[in-house]
Amino acid sequence: MDFTEDQIHRYARHILLDGVGGVGQRKLLESRVLVIGAGGLGSPVLMYLAAAGVGTLGVVDDDVVDLSNLQRQIVHSTAAVGTPKVESAQKTLAAINPDVTVIPHQERITAANALDLISGYDIVADGSDNFATRFLVNDACYLAKKTLVSAAILKFDAQLYTFKAFEADDEGGHGPCYRCIFPEPPPEGQIPTCAEAGVLGALCGMAGSLQATEVLKELIGLGESLSGALMVYDGLSTTFRKISVKPDPGCRLCGDSPEITDLTIHKAESRSP
Ligand SMILES: [Zn+2]
Repeated sequence: MDFTEDQIHRYARHILLDGVGGVGQRKLLESRVLVIGAGGLGSPVLMYLAAAGVGTLGVVDDDVVDLSNLQRQIVHSTAAVGTPKVESAQKTLAAINPDVTVIPHQERITAANALDLISGYDIVADGSDNFATRFLVNDACYLAKKTLVSAAILKFDAQLYTFKAFEADDEGGHGPCYRCIFPEPPPEGQIPTCAEAGVLGALCGMAGSLQATEVLKELIGLGESLSGALMVYDGLSTTFRKISVKPDPGCRLCGDSPEITDLTIHKAESRSP
């Protein structure tokens, strides 16, 4: 299987696993994942994917590390305060696993660069913290035919989705996209952000670990895809709910008569946080 001694040792617990094995581990080493945001969700996603030996990890973030990030953004350390998040993440990930190539994209994902950014990767994991980006990434991944594993967190709650509406399923249909569930971004100010309402730090780790698990499953082709369902975690009552979601034939993006065929609408919708 062409592993070094160190790799056999490092990935022994994966290679032992039914359904992963040397073949699965090789797939991970050859995979490229783009992670949007090196924040609360991006931190655990990046760290687990690096530890797992995902060969190439792209990180998109234009922000610098702030002291208020450290309560949950575990890829960054106190010494990194004031430095670009992509650089800080790259340093941590290199220390976790030298097998992994980290590509820092120190920019904001926009309608102008989204398709270019995404085209270099196999799968996208969205851990962004605003609706404008979440809709942009959904539309770009659908148009570029890239599987999207998306998570969202607020206060004590998390949501998790996998979207690959571009892909035909066994019955000749397809799964939903984000717009099938939420057709449009909510009016500004209607739903508070984590900066406004807060978020329990450890909850980001839980949601990001679930997100990393779904990314690894999609890369290896393991188990049952989360596509077609929405996973909701309520941290206060410790409940998971998996809600089945159907594609909307009237969806503006993936429906029968799509209106969104490029990213033009995001030129108006995109804005700085
Ligand atoms: Zn849709």
